[in-house]
Amino acid sequence: MPAKNGKKRVGVLALQGDFDAHAKAIQQAGGEAVEVRTAEELGHIDGLVIPGGESTSMLKLLNMMELIEPLSEFVRNKPVFGTCAGAILLATEVLNPSQQSLGAMDMTVERNAYGRQIDSRVANISASADFQARAGEGDVEAVFIRAPIIRRTGPAVKVLAEYHGDPVLVEQGKHLVATFHPELTHDARVHKLFLSKI
Ligand code: GLN
Repeated sequence: MPAKNGKKRVGVLALQGDFDAHAKAIQQAGGEAVEVRTAEELGHIDGLVIPGGESTSMLKLLNMMELIEPLSEFVRNKPVFGTCAGAILLATEVLNPSQQSLGAMDMTVERNAYGRQIDSRVANISASADFQARAGEGDVEAVFIRAPIIRRTGPAVKVLAEYHGDPVLVEQGKHLVATFHPELTHDARVHKLFLSKI
């Protein structure tokens, strides 16, 4: 249900990772951001952001708090935007090593795939014409932090931006995934695109 002020109410999974930066980015993009930690709170939002952080720690917490089932149910029905660790949690298949995931996006991701030496980097990437038409023109500044690489995408997955030939911003139906961190830049276009999917 939309918030009273008419804004879309977007939950940010707030168990671990950089949820605070996402909440600010959602507000900047014109949404109403609410931190989500319980199954009950999932019932009050129109879409959900699963932030970056450490996917293994997030999985542990999700299992401990018995949130896997409610979250799986949520992703079947409502739009979810996963960044980095959030992207890993949404994939159908995870490598390096293999781990549990929600399977909302038909893709295979390899964790920490840029190698240990280069932990993080900032790159200017050119987004697809489709992304620019829907979200606004210009390159996207992409912050990668121990990022995964999307190694395979299924036929329903649309690639919105690539870096060195690998997809880094993709969508499948109502869901959106970035292997980088748009919440760490001042460019709100990726969050605006997510809001437009809600
Ligand atoms: N390397 C982390 C993982 O595998 C993801 C890093 C991030 O979210 N910035 O879960």
